[in-house]
Amino acid sequence: MTTKKNVTKKVASSRKKNVVIKSAPAKKAARRKIPTKKSEAKKVKPIPRNEVLPILKKDALGHLMVEKLLREGGFRGGISTDKEKLEAYSCDESIFSIKPQVVIEPKNAEDVKNAVSVIARETKHFPALSLTPRAAGTGLSGGSLTDSVVIDLCTHMHNLGEVHNVNGEVTITVEPGVMWRDMEAELKKHGAYVPSYTASKDICTVGGSVANNAAGPDSLRYGHCADWVQSMQVVLADGEEYTIKPLTYKNFQILQKKQNAYGRILREIFALIESNETTIRRAEPNTAKNTSGYPLWDVINGTVAEFKSGRATFDLTRLISGSQGTVGIVTSITMKTVPIPQNTRLVVVPVFNLSTASSAVLEALRHNPNNVEVFDALSFNLALKNPRFFKNRLSGLKYYETMLSMYSLYHIRWLQKTPEFTLLMTFEDKSDQVIKDILRLLKRVGAKGAREVVLEEEKEMFWQIRRASYTLSKLQDKNKRPAAFLEDMTVPPEHLSSFLSDIKRLLRKYNLEAAIHGHGGNGHFHFYPLIDFTKSGVGELIEKMSEEFFRTAVKYKGNICGEHNDGIIRTPFLDLMYSKKVLRLFEETERIFDPDDIFNPGKKVNPRFDIKSSLRKKNN
Ligand SMILES: Cc1cc2nc3c(=O)[nH]c(=O)nc-3n(C[C@H](O)[C@H](O)[C@H](O)COP(=O)(O)OP(=O)(O)OC[C@H]3O[C@@H](n4cnc5c(N)ncnc54)[C@H](O)[C@@H]3O)c2cc1C
Repeated sequence: MTTKKNVTKKVASSRKKNVVIKSAPAKKAARRKIPTKKSEAKKVKPIPRNEVLPILKKDALGHLMVEKLLREGGFRGGISTDKEKLEAYSCDESIFSIKPQVVIEPKNAEDVKNAVSVIARETKHFPALSLTPRAAGTGLSGGSLTDSVVIDLCTHMHNLGEVHNVNGEVTITVEPGVMWRDMEAELKKHGAYVPSYTASKDICTVGGSVANNAAGPDSLRYGHCADWVQSMQVVLADGEEYTIKPLTYKNFQILQKKQNAYGRILREIFALIESNETTIRRAEPNTAKNTSGYPLWDVINGTVAEFKSGRATFDLTRLISGSQGTVGIVTSITMKTVPIPQNTRLVVVPVFNLSTASSAVLEALRHNPNNVEVFDALSFNLALKNPRFFKNRLSGLKYYETMLSMYSLYHIRWLQKTPEFTLLMTFEDKSDQVIKDILRLLKRVGAKGAREVVLEEEKEMFWQIRRASYTLSKLQDKNKRPAAFLEDMTVPPEHLSSFLSDIKRLLRKYNLEAAIHGHGGNGHFHFYPLIDFTKSGVGELIEKMSEEFFRTAVKYKGNICGEHNDGIIRTPFLDLMYSKKVLRLFEETERIFDPDDIFNPGKKVNPRFDIKSSLRKKNN
């Protein structure tokens, strides 16, 4: 077995003897314990789930030399091994804690190119060197954590860039570290917005959102971030920056002939898709939202034959969005927009009986809502108990109005009985009569309390609670943490009621309470069980529960990961969703982009961080 120790020895002795160090495919094979040749690979036993690949080594010397090597390579940004800084970068919003060896902060795309070139060259001598991009670090799956080098795209690369308006089509070009809220404020001046915004839009970046292929309330109608990328600049494994955008067959033919990394990637990804077209089409998940795996089915927006005859395009932005920094580093993004909706109306449905949840959502979906969102009784009751929480979020009179509407809803309308779930449905450009009809139809399917909310302060109250549900759940018990590991399962909405009742039964079985909220219209729920991370046995519990809960989602034709991506927590479980053949195609995809395995290893394919030993040990 390849261990930290014997790889160090091998590297040292091979250098003495002037022997060529293991090639990157061999390096990957060592991690995966499989041979590199395709013919041999067939005979190899697949890695059983949860068996993580051996970490080669922390490579003290390689990491000690990073600063010198980067400076020699022309890197101008920050480089730090300061203890406090490494500590700060060892966590994101996930349940994991992994300390990096070095944090670098590029000043611009040129610095990113330098960093990639240096690490790609040096990883041949120091196999554990890699680069993991990080933006605002609000990810919930551990995507931005590493035991090697973190490249922080936020510190300097946050230029807002320009807004373009061509015949009413508004686009904006931003550096990856731009905060989503800043992009939104800029676009507002032009009456436009990017509709795949997340509930975390005030604290996350555009680059991190695209790299996670994040989504939010309006994704019901408008899809994920990947749907709103027009083009992007990406530094690929050869250390060069390329413009990636949808290609016609004619353009593809020109570019794939180029003797550079982009040309090779175009050729090889196309060949992979062409020779596995049926397998890839069949692997596409059933749900409207998904961020598990690499979406090879989205690269061509039609069949291979349609692409070749000029009726479809080939678009690698679809693969790079949502790749969690495993295939390259995004240095600039041009986002498409839609006009800000003007005439929206909010319908609220209190669900006292779980069995009506599916029918109410399905009825709403028939009327083309912008969103159908949901929060549970626990979230509402936490809001009720913690009015001060909103003081920081709402200013002056708005705070008092919002709180007043929350108390009157609870005491007067709901007679102090919080519904099990509250559904929020937004409709755009609907007349009074249409809204009346929708309410009547909702009542007919059992949603007796359905009504339109007209007061602005009441609308604000509902959206505040929905957006803050996760943060509110942190207020339950300071000795525990709402744990993000079951937080992203998605099922087709027709299975919503049965799925939710199975999940509630499972939570009871484990004697755990979990705040529940999410995107009801997509059948997409966030469950955050309260866990004390200082206790022993938490890792075993998390692994066991993950498998059991994920199997439940798959049983209902759902997926394990709607928008928060695979990261450390879900990568070992992808075989619950995809066949071995498809998993091999994902590995091949990553290898084509990243032959030296320098970009964020261990995420999406080839799991490398053991869930149990990578867990955070604290509840904050
Ligand atoms: C309160 C709360 C609410 C949330 N609500 C939502 C929600 O509604 N919808 C949703 O989808 N998510 C949600 N999230 C999760 C998270 O906020 C989003 O996924 C967010 O878009 C991540 O952005 P970030 O800037 O924090 O990225 P990070 O967490 O720093 O990075 C995310 C991933 O992208 C990679 N990456 C970052 N920058 C680059 C780059 N330039 N090039 C290549 N790869 C890169 C990283 O390696 C990492 O794998 C929520 C989180 C919290 C804490």
